Amino acid sequence: MGFDLHTHSCRSDGLLTPAALVARALEKKLPGIALTDHDTFAGLSEARAAAAGRGLVVFAGIELTTRDAYNIHILGYFLGKDPAGLAEVLAKLRRKRFQRIEEIVKRLGQHGLSLTLDEVLRPEQKEEGASAGRPHVAQAIVRKGYARDMDEAFAKYLRRGRPGFVPLEAFPPAEGVRLLREAGGAPSVAHPGNYPDDGFIEGLVPLGLAGIETYHPDNGDGTKVRRYAAMAEQWGLAATGGSDFHGHDDQKHAELGTYTTPDEEFTKLERICR
Ligand code: AMP
Ligand code: ZN
Ligand code: FE
Ligand code: FE
Repeated sequence: MGFDLHTHSCRSDGLLTPAALVARALEKKLPGIALTDHDTFAGLSEARAAAAGRGLVVFAGIELTTRDAYNIHILGYFLGKDPAGLAEVLAKLRRKRFQRIEEIVKRLGQHGLSLTLDEVLRPEQKEEGASAGRPHVAQAIVRKGYARDMDEAFAKYLRRGRPGFVPLEAFPPAEGVRLLREAGGAPSVAHPGNYPDDGFIEGLVPLGLAGIETYHPDNGDGTKVRRYAAMAEQWGLAATGGSDFHGHDDQKHAELGTYTTPDEEFTKLERICR
């Protein structure tokens, strides 16, 4: 079994603490995971401490928010905690994330949903290092009975075109790739099957893109997987994979360890950037 290179903890919008995520990975006898919280490394030390001496590797990762006509996520691997040049950028993204949640709550209020910021974010989710996201709002919407589950909360209120949709401002994907490479990391385009158009990927190759996330629930298991595997092959990139496990019972993400990176692709990823 390969490494699951896409997982989230409660330091961003996942449900499990970093230690509980590691416990689950150990239960499933996974060889290793990358913790790829959105725009933060805050969960890394706890995850590593929980895994120490227990035969599970925890890779330092991140899912960096960038923006073209819409938000594009770039995964970054092999980064140390708070690598030079990234810390400030990430702190700024997290502040924007927080302000955006405030704006979403305000708009939903204007739309007739009674929701407060305190109902959306617990105190620790407002602390430095924590990364707030739409799933937090979705959970609060469900708790207050405005939707049956998270998928319905996104579909009715949070997706593009819906009353609570607020785009997350960020630098372009090219800048994201450059920043990750400069910090010594290996950038891989997250869940390309998720975007209205994947034409932007080719332009990132000369900038140092190292991978394309080929094995991911959003890519399905047919045409798109073959498409991204072929693109990676053609451009000499690694075809990476991960479950995007968040711990929520939603249709968008998979169980920990059910999508992984083939060993030879992991070796390629290491070779490109190390
Ligand atoms: P944000 O970064 O705040 O825009 O939120 C993006 C997060 O919301 C990602 O982890 C998405 O996978 C997640 N997301 C999008 N749609 C859904 C959905 N229907 N159910 C659960 N999570 C979702
Ligand atoms: Zn997420
Ligand atoms: Fe993502
Ligand atoms: Fe993710």
